[in-house]
Amino acid sequence: MLVVMQSHAAPAQIDRVVRVIEGQGMSAHVMPGATRTAIGITGNTGAVDKSLFEVLDGVEETIRVTKPYKLASREMKRDDTTIEFAQGTVGPKTFTMIAGPCSVESETMMMKTAEHLISRGVKFLRAGAFKPRSSPYSFQGLGLEGLRILEKCRSKTGIGIVTELMDTEHASAVEDAADIIQIGTRNMQNFSLLKRVGKCRKPVLLKRGMSATLEEWLMAAEYIMAGGNYQVILCERGVRTFSDHSRNTLDLSVIPPAKALCHLPLFVDPSHGTGKRAYVPAMSLASLAAGADGLLIEAHPEPDRAMSDGAQSLDFAGLDAILARLKSLAPAFDRTM
Ligand code: PEP
Ligand code: MN
Repeated sequence: MLVVMQSHAAPAQIDRVVRVIEGQGMSAHVMPGATRTAIGITGNTGAVDKSLFEVLDGVEETIRVTKPYKLASREMKRDDTTIEFAQGTVGPKTFTMIAGPCSVESETMMMKTAEHLISRGVKFLRAGAFKPRSSPYSFQGLGLEGLRILEKCRSKTGIGIVTELMDTEHASAVEDAADIIQIGTRNMQNFSLLKRVGKCRKPVLLKRGMSATLEEWLMAAEYIMAGGNYQVILCERGVRTFSDHSRNTLDLSVIPPAKALCHLPLFVDPSHGTGKRAYVPAMSLASLAAGADGLLIEAHPEPDRAMSDGAQSLDFAGLDAILARLKSLAPAFDRTM
């Protein structure tokens, strides 16, 4: 249920509603809006008695939320969610590029990448220090040393850091180093990990599970939000289908329904979505046109020597070309870059 406050409701009236919710053993989620504050209720086992709230001062109305993902749903929050960073804003009217190599390989290549991105106005660097690899014999990432390298890139250039958290053991280390914590496709339903990042103070980029329905994806976001972390960015990265012409099937058709049902920002990863660098430009432009709020693209100073995902990584010239096209097209879609 959602308790919508009157536009002039006082903070004390909001507090009172929160206390009544908590007094019933349920959780209250205060969501300030453009004109009114709404308070979401979760943790109820049966129907919530709306008469408990309708009599309280400052309450405008109560609304039943029908979707199983409560906090992530548009029913709970009508306006698109915006997330503010020192580096810039993610959300409606903007289009944000996150780029970088699949893995942190060395300080030299990471610094080169960070400097290139910053020089092109890209505000977020993404690279994995901890890598989920299909083979235990493949490069697994530099781990904590990789996080130190990413922190150095931020200190030197001011770029925001996006990096993957694979297990609860490293949650504090990744949370400290990252500006955005990535949860990978293989962990979309790792519920212990989702609960743990629900307790983090950093925004989370939640990749869609490779065989997840939209509802399962939104329920994963709900796990994070139910823990009190409302700063979730969804990321479509392709799903498994019968098609074998690309690594995954990039499901851009999920964007309109995801936007209709959910208020969170939505990014697209055309690199993992296609697996081939030649297909990344077209899918990047299509993502902008389909309503995405940004892209996550793999780019490497020397893609053919990359320790992971070289075939789908662009070189800097390739990334620059996409950036130029996106920048010229973004205004047509009412977005700035
Ligand atoms: C990655 O971003 O490098 C990655 C491993 O992504 P995914 O979880 O989408 O496979
Ligand atoms: Mn990768």
